Amino acid sequence: MSEFDLINRYFKYLPCQRTDVLLGIGDDCALLQPPAGKQLAMTADTLVAGVHFPVNTPAVDIGYKSLAVNLSDLAAMGAEPAWAMLALTLPVADENWLQQFMSGFSELACEHGVQLIGGDTTSGPLSITVQLTGFVTPDQVLRRDAAKPGDKIYVSGTLGDAALGLKKCLGHIASKNSLLHCVSRLNRPDPRVALGRELLAVCRCSIDISDGLMADLGHIVNASCCAANIYLNKLPLSDELQKFYGNDIDWSVVATGGDDYELCFTLPPQHEPLLKIIAEKTHTRLTCIGEIISGKGVHCFDEAGREVGFANAGYNHFSDSIK
Ligand code: ADP
Ligand code: MG
Repeated sequence: MSEFDLINRYFKYLPCQRTDVLLGIGDDCALLQPPAGKQLAMTADTLVAGVHFPVNTPAVDIGYKSLAVNLSDLAAMGAEPAWAMLALTLPVADENWLQQFMSGFSELACEHGVQLIGGDTTSGPLSITVQLTGFVTPDQVLRRDAAKPGDKIYVSGTLGDAALGLKKCLGHIASKNSLLHCVSRLNRPDPRVALGRELLAVCRCSIDISDGLMADLGHIVNASCCAANIYLNKLPLSDELQKFYGNDIDWSVVATGGDDYELCFTLPPQHEPLLKIIAEKTHTRLTCIGEIISGKGVHCFDEAGREVGFANAGYNHFSDSIK
């Protein structure tokens, strides 16, 4: 099969086709019509085998996750997703792998109204880069530099599941417990796109948790020139994680584990009643975990009010590896 057959078969005729794509896959460039009065929000993320996912991850999950992590970046800014580009580096042109990969990618693309408009296909060690573009209304955007002392700090969903799922996938857990929920959270994160857009009604500051709560909330306080107090006993945990650890929760997994792709946002307290409505509307668990104060850094306290330190604040590409 030639490169062009491959493109026609697997990339060109996906079910989600948008009217604002004037020219899609097939020419040297795609031609796009942005909506009048909107600004473009653009992001790209690369997933490298053995670095961002264990090498034994099913192709369907890699396809799903490669789009999900980009959707999560748009969610964190409150943007509406539209167009994706896909740069694929494959060790071999394995059609079975590609078919699985694209079914995962396309499932999520359809769910969010995203059209694949182009990309590049090369051979080499397995690596996937997705570039995603969305729309925002000028000044209606969530940014990491907009937190203010007095804001409440919230997170969506639960924390630490993906990090526990990763331990399971890497064989680091001597347990018969299959941790299905946590492994699914690792491989098929649910980007909080609807939540991000609803949050525009009540706040202006958010980030998605890709590198762990401590690290990502750290980006908020650094960019916003303020500090954060958070409380371990308020961090939302899934039933599966809670059951796995029992009374001896590994808080470093919850507070510093990456890959959850939940949103962490800061909210002026007067908007808390409205937030309840947003939680119901988006079917999302939203939990207050602390508050923004003046000062520097993220300070985490245990039940006794003692400050807790963590050896590793989050994933670092140049010192950590999951191989
Ligand atoms: P060129 O050599 O002009 O860069 P290519 O031969 O790489 O073009 O690609 C031909 C068409 O197929 C282009 O429209 C390109 O965007 C698209 N394409 C190539 N690889 C992918 C991919 N992995 N996903 C989506 N579209 C792709
Ligand atoms: Mg060309």
